Amino acid sequence: MLADSTLIAPPAPSLADARATLERVWGHGDFRGRQAEVVTEILAGRDVVAVLPTGGGKSVCYQIPAMLRPGLGLVVSPLIALMTDQVEALKQQGVAAARLDSGVSMDDRSAIWRQARAGELDLLYVSPEGLAQPHLIDRLHDLPLSLIAIDEAHCVSQWGHDFRPDYRTLGRLAELFPGVPRIAVTATADARTRDDIVRSLRLEDAKVVVDSFARPNLQLSAIRKESASRARTDAAVIDLVRQRRGKSGVVYCGSRDGCERVAEALRAAGTNAIAYHAGMEARDRDRRLERFLAEDGAVMVATIAFGMGVDKADVRFVIHADPPGSLEAYWQEIGRAGRDGEPADGITLYGPSDIAWTLKRLEGRPMAEEVKAVQVKKARQLFAMLDGAVCRAQAVRRYFGEEGAERCGVCDLCLDPPAVFDATVPAQKALAAVQRLGERFGKNRVIDHLLGKTKDVQPWETALSTWAIGADTGQHTWRDIVDHLMFEGLLVEDPNEGKPLVRLGDPEAVRAVYRGERAIEVRAAAARAASAPRERTRTGRNAALETMDADVRARFETLRAWRRDRAAEQHVPP
Ligand code: ADP
Ligand code: MG
Ligand code: ZN
Repeated sequence: MLADSTLIAPPAPSLADARATLERVWGHGDFRGRQAEVVTEILAGRDVVAVLPTGGGKSVCYQIPAMLRPGLGLVVSPLIALMTDQVEALKQQGVAAARLDSGVSMDDRSAIWRQARAGELDLLYVSPEGLAQPHLIDRLHDLPLSLIAIDEAHCVSQWGHDFRPDYRTLGRLAELFPGVPRIAVTATADARTRDDIVRSLRLEDAKVVVDSFARPNLQLSAIRKESASRARTDAAVIDLVRQRRGKSGVVYCGSRDGCERVAEALRAAGTNAIAYHAGMEARDRDRRLERFLAEDGAVMVATIAFGMGVDKADVRFVIHADPPGSLEAYWQEIGRAGRDGEPADGITLYGPSDIAWTLKRLEGRPMAEEVKAVQVKKARQLFAMLDGAVCRAQAVRRYFGEEGAERCGVCDLCLDPPAVFDATVPAQKALAAVQRLGERFGKNRVIDHLLGKTKDVQPWETALSTWAIGADTGQHTWRDIVDHLMFEGLLVEDPNEGKPLVRLGDPEAVRAVYRGERAIEVRAAAARAASAPRERTRTGRNAALETMDADVRARFETLRAWRRDRAAEQHVPP
């Protein structure tokens, strides 16, 4: 800076300055989405929570203000790999950035602090554990800070899907560095998590900027597992991957064993599949990640340990062999597909045994009852979406609080709207039967009771008011209804050491159904079986298409054309 310019207060940096920096350093013509809004708030020194989509460009939102505002910008990031990537990229672009993590030598540390004291450093990346060290805080105290950015801020929330206890301590930054604007960024946070971020980080008067959750290039679908058999699920996954041969993708599995097993099966089927989970050594994991990034058509078969900060633009599909724990986790994981904006698939396999497993796993976790209750609710909301009949993108966007989201036009439910029937009365019957039977029996037995077909029935059972009240409905339909009630959390399957019992779920929700305040819609089995995510060609019978809005329809037509081209490509001999 020129000596005489320090005599007068420098003018506050403007959005135009920020735009110029974006152009000069990154070569991007303009801000997109709600970036400009976020940058404006931070330049003005306000606290901000920014929820912008994956790949939406959250980093520049704090990097540019850190460069333009006087002082050092401190960035808290959860993973060393994330820090390294960002800092290396910044350095190559000529930005004065550094990171302090366990892998940095003493000499390098001294050099970084020297640089910082000389006012020559714009951005310093640290881990939350690093910030817990008193000497680091002391050193930072001696420096003017331009801002503090907290990346992947959803990690602060116990209710979120990626809670990191270290993040919990970041609230202290409010007292340690009063007056320094703080910005929390994440790609997925529902209203509750957003509140939790503001509260835990003790942000002041925070401006919360939430971008649309629309990802029009993603084609979402869910396939109900018709049995709990692992072999069948594995076969379905292999089929789905085969249909996408040569494309890069991610398959999420619920367990490390599952990862290894599915990866091996995929390799046997001729796919370049790589297993990845937290049970592997860090070096081994890094090598696997490098292969995934470098090799054509690589498919990562992983647990949730994989994904955060992985910057691969051309992931063409994400398949959940086992469903995640919440809609936030779902969106975060599916969101890793199609970051380049080209069409990509997000396919989730789910079944009644999955929700039972999810709930059981939560049951065993050491956490506050209140936190557990929220997570149980979140799991149920996810399963209700998966087994629901509402456009998937619309359901997700509504969940994140986006009003007025239109139907996406390309998800399995938009392409082939399932037949649904009003099952409110049957649901009341099923709930009553479970209650009268004393919550002591499994699903099949409850259905037999409803049908009046219990083997060797005893007089006490035929004396119940619910005996045979469901004889007017077929057995398969009852299965659909009872399963759906489980997905909605109205019934809960208690694993009971391998002899599952059906119990009543959330009492308030159950009461609402009894009183007729809550309607229950169930997808008819025939429609469900047909809703596998293959291309629908019989769109002529798709009545919903006729009523689609013009732009939704246009998008649908584009996607269909793209799929046709792709299918044609695949038929051209190599
Ligand atoms: P995320 O929001 O997932 O953290 P990143 O900050 O990693 O996303 O940005 C993803 C990519 O988008 C980067 O390559 C970045 O340079 C690019 N990007 C950011 N802002 C813009 C913009 N306004 N126009 C075009 N590309 C942008
Ligand atoms: Mg990021
Ligand atoms: Zn849709």
